[in-house]
Amino acid sequence: MLNKFGKLKVLLVEDSKVAIKAIIGYLDDLGVQLLVAENGSAAIDLFRRERPDIILLDIILPDITGYEVAKQIRKLQGKDDWTAIIFLSVMSKEDDLARGIEAGGDDYLIKPVGRVVLQAKVAAMYRLVRMQRALVQLTEQLNQANEQLNLANMELHRVSMTDGLTGIPNRRVFDELLVREWRRCARLQKPISVVMLDVDYFKKFNDRYGHQAGDVCLKTTARVISNSIPRASDLAARYGGEEFVLILSETDSEGALAVADRIREQVAGLRMPNEDSPYQCVTLSCGISTVVPRDDMPVERLVKSADNALYLSKKQGRNSIAYLDYGQGD
Ligand code: GH3
Ligand code: MG
Ligand code: MG
Ligand code: MG
Repeated sequence: MLNKFGKLKVLLVEDSKVAIKAIIGYLDDLGVQLLVAENGSAAIDLFRRERPDIILLDIILPDITGYEVAKQIRKLQGKDDWTAIIFLSVMSKEDDLARGIEAGGDDYLIKPVGRVVLQAKVAAMYRLVRMQRALVQLTEQLNQANEQLNLANMELHRVSMTDGLTGIPNRRVFDELLVREWRRCARLQKPISVVMLDVDYFKKFNDRYGHQAGDVCLKTTARVISNSIPRASDLAARYGGEEFVLILSETDSEGALAVADRIREQVAGLRMPNEDSPYQCVTLSCGISTVVPRDDMPVERLVKSADNALYLSKKQGRNSIAYLDYGQGD
């Protein structure tokens, strides 16, 4: 009989030389590796070192009882390895058997045990040991597959929230976070600001320098914008095309103006060439709107007002900032 490492290991715990001899004779036929312990503590030692597949366990031993040995062995076992324990005893009362099973035994044979019965029981237990190990292996594989699935899901989640070109959050994240921050600011009765930012004369940029250069310009702009967000509860996202958007929670119009102007200055300060713009370089126009929200006010209106403000800043010559109150400019 073979286990996955070679021969099936059977530990015989028995203090009677006569019984040991008989059982060795029976098990020889099965081709197992047999270990023998003549008392309880030697049995526990051997179990620790050898991790046998099956234990044949006498109950009356010179030091501790077989019940105690079984209990200790069950404690030593990890949750993933299992050893079959078969008690061997001259004690033939039903209570003895019940006690053996309760102590952690899997079967109980009354001595003297004959060759046929012992071999059959060992074969049956061996079958159980193999099934249990297959189950452990399967569980391990399942756990691994689960872990990979979790990682894939996390990655999917990350990708679904990220803009592919610039790597900053996308519009979906903006929409979701805006609703959450709107409610939070409503609760706190604090102002919330939305800033829309749009690259000026970007069509001309693409026409002159090509779409790929346009992509690089958007990436650079996105980096400047997302590095300029002061607080963790704020957000910079790509709204679409060459438009970006900020959520500035607990921020009044003055604060929003300061943030937007810093970004506008920084982008212009990079002096990315845009020769067909009157500014000769890449610039941003910004529209801001701020409100102290209430839950019964439509959140979309704040975005619309910021967009209207953006339109104003375009009209007033671009590379500039305009502000409108909530609901203004419709
Ligand atoms: P304005 O100053 O009024 O904002 O003019 P504009 O040319 O920037 O605006 P318009 O809406 O006319 O053009 C936007 C351009 O942005 C056109 C479009 O091809 C380009 N664009 C949008 N998304 C991308 C992108 O992902 N990569 C590149 N390279 N270009 C983009
Ligand atoms: Mg004994
Ligand atoms: Mg534009
Ligand atoms: Mg635009």
